[in-house]
Amino acid sequence: MTEEQSKNERHKKAMEKQKAKVDARIAAADSERGVAIVLTGNGKGKSSSAFGMVMRALGYGHKVGVIQFIKGEQLSGEELYIKNHCPQVYLYQMGTGFTWNTQDRSGDIREAEKAWLEAEKLLTDDTVDLVVLDELTYMIAYKYLEENKVLEAIKNRPREQSVVVTGRGGGSALQDLVDTVAEVKDVKHAFKSGIKARKGVDY
Ligand code: ATP
Ligand code: MG
Repeated sequence: MTEEQSKNERHKKAMEKQKAKVDARIAAADSERGVAIVLTGNGKGKSSSAFGMVMRALGYGHKVGVIQFIKGEQLSGEELYIKNHCPQVYLYQMGTGFTWNTQDRSGDIREAEKAWLEAEKLLTDDTVDLVVLDELTYMIAYKYLEENKVLEAIKNRPREQSVVVTGRGGGSALQDLVDTVAEVKDVKHAFKSGIKARKGVDY
């Protein structure tokens, strides 16, 4: 056997082993229901990942609802796309901007409560397949929304419904409750070396 052939042979064996492991894991995950996901951490990629899942769900004709708890100063590309091309997606944006811009606690709380009513409608509607609660963690962290109320609604949602929460922090109770928690780590970010936030990339 040439060295190339024996490399190929070793590779094949390793891949067979790998496939057996993966197949066993797939066979073990036999419970079918909606999943609750938290995307957190200081790095870039939380909201854009959630909107990636919106696209995935839409690809199968699923019903999707998105509540945004912090609205940027301008609409982001995904918001524009949904507004202009996806009339079937329910999109609600909280009426205030970034909390450090409004500096109005009671106004923010009123708006957060209004947005939460919209979230509750989605979380009790079993025709909705995917609910995105973008930047919800800040509403819990700032105590704009009562943590227990949020957790109960996520816990008691329809069995087949999936929910994605994005935002830094959000507390351990939320992380304990959900099925999947992913933390995006900030290794480096262009903004910190002076590059402006970019259309179609950052917003
Ligand atoms: P994205 O919407 O790009 O997925 P995100 O949801 O993970 O980002 P947020 O904390 O919601 O991040 O921040 C919103 C804005 O700040 C986006 O324009 C994003 O690109 C930018 N951003 C995210 N992480 C960082 C970071 N570590 N440093 C500077 N800017 C960031
Ligand atoms: Mg975000």
